[in-house]
Amino acid sequence: IVTPRPSLGAFEVGETWVKQLQGLSLRNVEATLYVGKKKVRREFGEMVFTHFGVSGPIVLTLSKAYAGLHNASDVSVSVDLKPALSQETLDARLTKQFKETTKQLKNYLPELLPRSLVPVFLQLVGIESSVPVNRITREERMRIVHTLKDLRMRVVRARSAEEAIVTAGGISLREIDPRTMESKLIRGLYFAGEVMDIDAVTGGFNLQAAFSTGWLAGESAAGRVSSVA
Ligand SMILES: Cc1cc2nc3c(=O)[nH]c(=O)nc-3n(C[C@H](O)[C@H](O)[C@H](O)COP(=O)(O)OP(=O)(O)OC[C@H]3O[C@@H](n4cnc5c(N)ncnc54)[C@H](O)[C@@H]3O)c2cc1C
Repeated sequence: IVTPRPSLGAFEVGETWVKQLQGLSLRNVEATLYVGKKKVRREFGEMVFTHFGVSGPIVLTLSKAYAGLHNASDVSVSVDLKPALSQETLDARLTKQFKETTKQLKNYLPELLPRSLVPVFLQLVGIESSVPVNRITREERMRIVHTLKDLRMRVVRARSAEEAIVTAGGISLREIDPRTMESKLIRGLYFAGEVMDIDAVTGGFNLQAAFSTGWLAGESAAGRVSSVA
């Protein structure tokens, strides 16, 4: 048996500010999983903040890659809130816009971010919320750009197998005959679905694997019974 572990689940993160964002869902963002400075996997789409960390479709897909890291340390997830713009383009755009308005930063940020993210964002960039944007220094603007492109969270662990959508690990495929789903070790024993060492990303693949292997295992077992009878 390949050691079972949760796959397609949420991440618990070290940053306590996520609690303030509980329930906030972000669309059209890019999330990247890192081990140290190495990019492991990147996903574009929708995610949601929870009281313990992050979840949602793109996080579930990243968690499959995380399951394959076997509890590596120094794992983080970086959210790019403006994936359509490069750092340089975003900086140029903000430089231009900051010159054109006297709005305070806290009143300007809702044009860039969901309103509920603004207080946390201000905390992270460490800039006085009432400063007029045309008085923001270059160094402060770079902090804003950097945080928009790399909202970083330290992954503490994936949520438990009980909460995960699918379990990685299970009966080793090397010990199963793929033509019949029969065990190569015990004749007359058939496997199907998640009990085997198979797991896939979201999109119906896990259900399809369960249906297909279940059908094949059932047909094979029935065939064996009728051939014995
Ligand atoms: C919240 C959630 C959302 C999901 N969404 C998707 C999705 O969108 N797309 C997708 O492809 N997959 C999805 N999955 C995964 C998918 O549901 C599973 O991969 C699939 O159902 C596995 O089928 P299975 O028959 O192998 O196992 P299961 O569906 O777990 O069936 C096992 C059955 O065995 C029974 N059982 C356990 N022990 C015993 C025992 N000792 N005696 C008798 N019976 C027992 C259990 O009660 C259960 O009914 C989701 C899973 C969850 C939890």
